[in-house]
Amino acid sequence: MLGQMMQQPLLISSLLVHAERHHGRQEIVSRRIEGDIHRYTFRDMAQRSRQTAQALDGLGLQHGDRVATLAWNGHRHLELYFGVSGSGAVLHTVNPRLHEDQIVWIIENAEDDVLVFDLTFVDLVQSIAPRLTSVREFVVMTDRAHMPDVPDWRCYEDLLAQHDGDWTWPAFDELSASSLCYTSGTTGDPKGVLYSHRSTVLHTFGVALPDSLGLSASDVVMPVVPMFHVNAWGMPYGACMVGAKVVFPGADLDGASLHELIENEGVTLCAGVPTVWQGLLQHCAKAGSGLGSLLRAIVGGAACPPQMLRDLEETGVEVIHGWGMTETSPFGTASVLKKHQLDLPDGDRLHIKAKQGRCVFGIDLKITDDEGVELPWDGQISGHLMTRGHWVLDEYFGRNESPLIDGWFPTGDIASIDPDGFMQITDRSKDVIKSGGEWIGSIDLENIAMEHPDVAEAACIGIRHPKWDERPLLVVVPRGGAAPSREELIAWYADKIAKWWTPDDVVFVDSLPLGTTGKVLKQALRDRFAGHFDTAPAAVV
Ligand code: ADP
Repeated sequence: MLGQMMQQPLLISSLLVHAERHHGRQEIVSRRIEGDIHRYTFRDMAQRSRQTAQALDGLGLQHGDRVATLAWNGHRHLELYFGVSGSGAVLHTVNPRLHEDQIVWIIENAEDDVLVFDLTFVDLVQSIAPRLTSVREFVVMTDRAHMPDVPDWRCYEDLLAQHDGDWTWPAFDELSASSLCYTSGTTGDPKGVLYSHRSTVLHTFGVALPDSLGLSASDVVMPVVPMFHVNAWGMPYGACMVGAKVVFPGADLDGASLHELIENEGVTLCAGVPTVWQGLLQHCAKAGSGLGSLLRAIVGGAACPPQMLRDLEETGVEVIHGWGMTETSPFGTASVLKKHQLDLPDGDRLHIKAKQGRCVFGIDLKITDDEGVELPWDGQISGHLMTRGHWVLDEYFGRNESPLIDGWFPTGDIASIDPDGFMQITDRSKDVIKSGGEWIGSIDLENIAMEHPDVAEAACIGIRHPKWDERPLLVVVPRGGAAPSREELIAWYADKIAKWWTPDDVVFVDSLPLGTTGKVLKQALRDRFAGHFDTAPAAVV
């Protein structure tokens, strides 16, 4: 017997319809590429998203056709999030920080029909345009006054002005593709992940839950995490679902600019990778200011160092450490405490919060050994982290083989899970340091280094060693003006970890190489310091 309830497809347009009807007066604030602050409401955004859909229709776009964007976080990008996906086309957000050749490869691989881009990327698009064989329309996200003088390019504002917004969102299968994002390629070639309307809407419910980001109509959310990478962790959709005010930082992602927006707009929740938070904290320390109205800091994409967690919590901000991947839409886990953990002493609470966190309904985890046998959740043993769920990838775009193993997606991360379900990443499998047949997790070593008052940033990498296969090398960016010594930093590890885990050597650098999504590029460091232990004597083992 079937249930007798309404069946409404889970479509991205339904989030917008809800936001317009129930939160129409809620504000969306953007720092524009043109230099000013732009303000309008969900009602205005919904109207312009419909105009965008009409404009795309006018350009002859069909269901399933791809529209690529090269754009920062801003209101026009949001209109495309809804206008493109809502009309049945696929929004392909391209990471503009990639190398030109990679951008061309990705756009060609996706066979994008239309490319819409911010003024910032005019030179880039002019340079790659001759190599883009599938793109037939180029649209600049600006108004007539700022339009570059390039024949055949269209002006976004002119396109919208030709339409009245009198448009009804089409209904179609909720399994239809909605958006496409390529992995950032930190550990290999970029691979396309094709989200569906259903997976995106279910992911949005998951993100909004109190034990994940806990979004609400009383929040002012600022996604610093880019809209060009994994849908800004689902925050644009989440804000529509709950009716939260949204603040988009545009292209100015330095600590001072973000701080200004937090103060001026009353931001309560902000999401970014650790390097973004580092910039904000450094700005606050220099300016002698706090984080104003901010209540929650979502730190994810790379491990949140415990010291950063403490620094943020000391300013009165609750940290939610999250883990996810392009392949998981991206929300996987969040470190939100359970009731019996709330009254633990500060040190114990922070220890749990520094873990990558636990799942909400909709996503599941397990860890396995090399043979695929599931390992216990004792918080000690680590193994290959596997995941499955309503918003986890089944197959990569355009590749006909499935990466799944017995219905689970292998994340490439090595992790432990404790009896409360809190997962802790030891490392990416490619970054684990293999010493004498045993594994050393680089994240632990980095976290310890960053507790040292003279260390601003640290990365630990495995370098080939004549006796032990690999040994850990600590790469340190000293805190401004400080000059810690190698011996002092090595001694810093005493009694904190097993002696054989201690880095054999320390090198000092001005900055760490960062990838296009703000994560440390360990491969670049491994290349730079390859051969380091061929000559340097081992200090510890
Ligand atoms: P790429 O794989 O190209 O870097 P993703 O953005 O999909 O692109 O990265 C996902 C990976 O980032 C995860 O598999 C994990 O290794 C790492 N990661 C994400 N969040 C965290 C976190 N909180 N702590 C440690 N690693 C994280």
